Amino acid sequence: MDNKINRSEADSFRFWSPEVRKLQPYQPGEQPKHQKFIKLNTNENPYPPSPLVSIAIKQALGTTAEILRLYPDPDAKDLKEIISLQHGLNSDEVFVGNGSDEVLAFIFKAFFLHPNRPILYPDISYSFYPVYCQFYGIESIAIPVNKNFEISTADYHQENCGIIIANPNAPTGIALSLNEIESILCSHRDSVVVIDEAYVDFGAESSTKLIKRYDNLVVCQTTSKSRSLAGLRVGFAMAQPHLIAALNIVKNSFNSFPVDCLAIAAAYASFKDQRYFEKTCQSIMDEREKLCNSMEQIGFSILPSKANFIFASHEEHDAAQLASQLKQRGILVRHFNKPRINNFLRISIGSHEENLTLIKVLKELI
Ligand code: PMP
Repeated sequence: MDNKINRSEADSFRFWSPEVRKLQPYQPGEQPKHQKFIKLNTNENPYPPSPLVSIAIKQALGTTAEILRLYPDPDAKDLKEIISLQHGLNSDEVFVGNGSDEVLAFIFKAFFLHPNRPILYPDISYSFYPVYCQFYGIESIAIPVNKNFEISTADYHQENCGIIIANPNAPTGIALSLNEIESILCSHRDSVVVIDEAYVDFGAESSTKLIKRYDNLVVCQTTSKSRSLAGLRVGFAMAQPHLIAALNIVKNSFNSFPVDCLAIAAAYASFKDQRYFEKTCQSIMDEREKLCNSMEQIGFSILPSKANFIFASHEEHDAAQLASQLKQRGILVRHFNKPRINNFLRISIGSHEENLTLIKVLKELI
C-alpha cells in the first residue's frame, strides 16, 4: 500500500521543474468556509468596506455585466490618479497590482536580483520575504531584531543590494519612526529600500513623505487591511518614476491586466470615501487599546502595536495550546511555530463584540 502511494507521488513530481520541487511556499492563515468562527487570524478588518464600494461595483456591473466583455485598463489610470492625489504624488509615481503580495513579488524581481549581493530584512518579519528570495534565487541575510523585538537600524550597516522592512513590522506590530527610516535611506544610497506599509494606517508614520527626496525608496501599501478590501486584491507601490518604470516592465512581462475592472472601480470608490476610512481606522486603534488593557489585566505581555493586530504572550500558558483551545471555542488566532516567537499569539483586532468574546473566553482559559 505504502509503495503504491510513493510510486504515485514520484509520478506526480515527474513533470515538475526541479526548482519547483524545492520551493517551500508561504502558508496563508486558515480561511474556514463553513464553520462560523470569530476570525482574528489573518488581520482582516472587522468593519465592511465603505458603502461607496458596493455602489461602485453594482454601477460598474450594471444589469448586463457588459463591462466584463472588455479587458480592464492595463494601467488602472483612474485608480493611480486618486492614490497619487491622496499621497501628494504624481500618477507616474504609483504602481498598482493584484494585492501587495503581487506588488512585492514584482519589487523583488525588479530590484533585488543582483548576483553576490544579498538583501537584508529582519529575522522576525513577514514570512513571504524569504519565500520570494527562494523563488527568485535571491541571496538574503536575516538581521536579528533585538531582545525587545525591535529593529535596530545600526544593524543594517552592511553590504547589500536592497533592504525590505515592514513598518509597522509583522507579526510584532512595532513601528520605526520616520527618522529611523531616513537613517537607513541615507546610509544605503546605492540600494533600494522597500518599506512595506501594509499596516501603516493604524498609527504609524508613512514614509511616502520621503519619496520626493530619496531616489532609492519604494513604499508598498494595500487596500486589504485599512480599507477592508482583502477580498478585492488591490495593492500599490509608490516611488520616483524611474523605479515605477522597472515595476511596469516586470508587470508587462508577466500579466498586463493584474487589476480587474471591478477591483479598479471598487478600490477607486474606497479612496473617495476618506472620512469612512479615517473613522474605521480610529475605531480599530481604540479597540486595540481596550483589548491590550483587558489582556494585560489577565497576565498577557503585549508588544507595543501600531498595527491592526497585537502580538501577545503569557508566561504561564503555552501559546500553541491557547490557540488550539481558542479554536475549539470558535475563535481563530495565529500562532507561528518559529524560534523566538513560538510562545506568542498574533491576534487581529476584531469588532467590539468580538473582542469582548475573546476576553471572556481567555478569562475562562487562564
Ligand atoms: N505585507 C505584510 C507585512 C502583510 O502582512 C501582508 C498580508 N498578509 C501583505 C503585505 C500582503 O497583503 P495583500 O496581498 O493582501 O495586499
